[in-house]
Amino acid sequence: MNAWLPDLVYVDGRFESDRAVVCDDGKVLQVIEGNQAANAVRLKNRALLPGLVNAHSHAFQRVIRGRTERRSQNTTDSFWTWREQMYDAANRLEPEDIYAVSRMAFLEMALTGITAVGEFHYIHHARDGSTYSDPNLLSREVIRAARDVGIRIALLRVAYARAGFEKEADPRQTRFIETSPETYLKHLEQLLAAPELKDGLAWAGVAPHSVRAVPLDYLKAIVAFANERALPVHMHVAEQPAEVSACIEEYGRSPVALLDTEGLLSNRFTAVHAIHVTPKAIAAMSRAGASVCACPTTERNLGDGVVPVDAYFNAGVPVALGTDSQIQIDLLEDARELEYHLRLQQTARNVLAPQDDASSSALARRLFDCATVNGAKSIGFQAPADFFTVDLDDPSIAGASQDDLLANIVFSLSRTAVRDVVVAGKQIVENGRHRDQEAIIDHFTHR
Ligand SMILES: [Zn+2]
Repeated sequence: MNAWLPDLVYVDGRFESDRAVVCDDGKVLQVIEGNQAANAVRLKNRALLPGLVNAHSHAFQRVIRGRTERRSQNTTDSFWTWREQMYDAANRLEPEDIYAVSRMAFLEMALTGITAVGEFHYIHHARDGSTYSDPNLLSREVIRAARDVGIRIALLRVAYARAGFEKEADPRQTRFIETSPETYLKHLEQLLAAPELKDGLAWAGVAPHSVRAVPLDYLKAIVAFANERALPVHMHVAEQPAEVSACIEEYGRSPVALLDTEGLLSNRFTAVHAIHVTPKAIAAMSRAGASVCACPTTERNLGDGVVPVDAYFNAGVPVALGTDSQIQIDLLEDARELEYHLRLQQTARNVLAPQDDASSSALARRLFDCATVNGAKSIGFQAPADFFTVDLDDPSIAGASQDDLLANIVFSLSRTAVRDVVVAGKQIVENGRHRDQEAIIDHFTHR
């Protein structure tokens, strides 16, 4: 049994003093009176908060950070020109590279207080398009990277069938493609049986890439499988207007309308981005109990648009957060951007603050829930024994009162203020350093 005694503990939406957290066999996290924790590790000048959940990540995209922020020739840059550059990188990576870059991305996540990640993984095949002797080799390299860093991972195994409606096959997508649902499901079943998915630190989900990449029959087959096994289902939905218009052309319905009328939405379904949507689509997601995963740092980097989080909140749709392209890994930055993008759009303030609560932490609490409980629901796990601490003397939050500490953390915390990170009762970051930090960075930078 491990116990920790910080100055403040975040419990039920507020900070309390004289509380210790106790972790029993890595599973149960209990908060007890500080004076009852005789052998607790004292975390002086620290506040303790539940671990952050990053619900949408493509770890390998960490390799193109800083390399796409320049003008392409003879064109207006957009999501689609960025995608060309991303494909170039995706097609160069060997299995050991996938491991190295994933471990680098997960290290950075751990250092910022992220304790679980939903990895939307779509590179399956070798560089020449052939299937590896273990068709899940690359998925397992990503899982190995997360386990070595020590964070939890939902490997959301991506189904990718085609370039798009009435589109020629794109040779740069061959590493992603499994043309039939039978092949995809056979490989997924093999992954589900892998030994590293048996201890609660790693599990798998179903991720049809998008309505563009997966035709309806295929989509129905794999969502039915996910529903049978109660697996999380994640899908890119309405990230770009072109995706919505192509879907209307093919099916006469928008992506969300298609998912709704075909009965594919559920409370295990997460629509990633879900930016270009109608009030009717938002109502459909609400009825189904589906979640949205916003990735505002990436969405602003790619010029995708603004997630209408105010409308989702009003409809009771939980919004999770993802670091997506890894242009910056800072889930609290994503949390504050949910609000800031709406402020710019509406020339208003406190847009997402609840109507009936004027306290200084009410808005921060809502945004913090997006980075924690909503993410956990989205990737399919509950109440883990994971937490992180922040240094109360860090310049970015120094002087905060107990009542406004959460607003300080959500709106102003520097990532370097994160001091300790514990996953399943095991400390992976101590005093702002990961146990394998040098080795992981060295392996990544010298490849
Ligand atoms: Zn994505």
